[in-house]
Amino acid sequence: MTHKNFKNIDKVTYGRGSFAQLTETIEPIRKENKNYFVFVVDNYFKGRPLSTKLQNKPEDLVYFIDVDPYEPTTQQIDALRDEILSKKGLPSGVIGIGGGSIMDIAKALSLMLTNEGSSTLYQGLNLIKKPGIYHLGVPTISGTGAEVSMTAVLTGPEKKLGLKCDWTVFNQVILDPELIASVPTDWWFYTGMDTYIHCIESHGGIRNNAFSLAYGDQALSLCREIYLNDKAGQTPENDDKLMVASLMGGLSLTYSEVGVCHAISYGLSKIHGTRHCYANCIIFQHLGDIYPEGHAEFMQMIKKHKISLPQNLSKDWNEETLTKMATVSYNLPFMWNHAFGDNYKEIATMDYIKDLFRRL
Ligand code: NAD
Ligand code: ZN
Repeated sequence: MTHKNFKNIDKVTYGRGSFAQLTETIEPIRKENKNYFVFVVDNYFKGRPLSTKLQNKPEDLVYFIDVDPYEPTTQQIDALRDEILSKKGLPSGVIGIGGGSIMDIAKALSLMLTNEGSSTLYQGLNLIKKPGIYHLGVPTISGTGAEVSMTAVLTGPEKKLGLKCDWTVFNQVILDPELIASVPTDWWFYTGMDTYIHCIESHGGIRNNAFSLAYGDQALSLCREIYLNDKAGQTPENDDKLMVASLMGGLSLTYSEVGVCHAISYGLSKIHGTRHCYANCIIFQHLGDIYPEGHAEFMQMIKKHKISLPQNLSKDWNEETLTKMATVSYNLPFMWNHAFGDNYKEIATMDYIKDLFRRL
């Protein structure tokens, strides 16, 4: 087995109000390239107080980007890259302020500003040829771990796959829990459960190890405080914890692997466009036999926060649709191997995977 040699984020600032330190953080970087920054900001913040506190200078380019209903695309990144280069040349860096979608846009843009051609050429592992430019992430919704991961997930004409390499990882992340206060309660739940499921799946398979368990245990205990215990709920204290849980959940799965829920989730998202965290919740409610303890706790959290998830989706799926979804999921052997061990091929057959989809 090859052990992963993961490139972590270079620098992390954490704490309430830490976003105000952006100016001083990027000041030394302004010497690079054409001496200006590109800000990509979730359109949710347009006209809201944060948009007046971005700390951009007159020479900087600020793009407010709508991430609904579509997740980032290769076409979108290519067009943005071309526009930026033709307007002002190579920027000093890219700042992403938003959720997982904006984190991925900032990471992808940083790489595509120095790598020629379409981003479709680089979807996959280590296909990027040159280091990107400085990039800094400011998450405003927590859970996916996109702030720490080495991938920038893009949907292209042929595949939904990340630009995946060491250079994808942020140079700097600023974790300011004040920024996640406005997340709607349902999304607060779905995205936080992505962290929870990362840890349950990272633990529940053959690739776990002391390193992944340590991060995962800590993230799980934070999730219990945020979503389950007496003081559970969307409070400032819990937002402080959720930002850390998301990061640690991401680190746990990086050194281990995700499992059955994520494998099924990719099939559901690819064919039906269901958002990642929401898809995971829809699926995890049916995985009691595979992850009994995690499932029981998850159902308690659903009940506590009165979350209602769609049921009986599969009644609308014919054999062809089931085959399409199952094919996407089947082609994620690392996840099945982690979840079921070395004889996973005997368990995770196309028929078995289709049956998992029939549960939804
Ligand atoms: P998101 O970025 O898609 O945003 C979800 C919604 O929340 C949007 O409507 C957005 O406008 C809104 N929002 C964001 N911050 C807000 C705030 N502070 N207040 C109010 N509303 C706010 O959400 P996400 O779940 O974090 O990210 C999903 C994306 O992340 C998908 O594109 C998925 O492919 C990607 N992803 C990437 C990785 C990775 O490792 N790179 C991992 C998992 C998922
Ligand atoms: Zn996930």
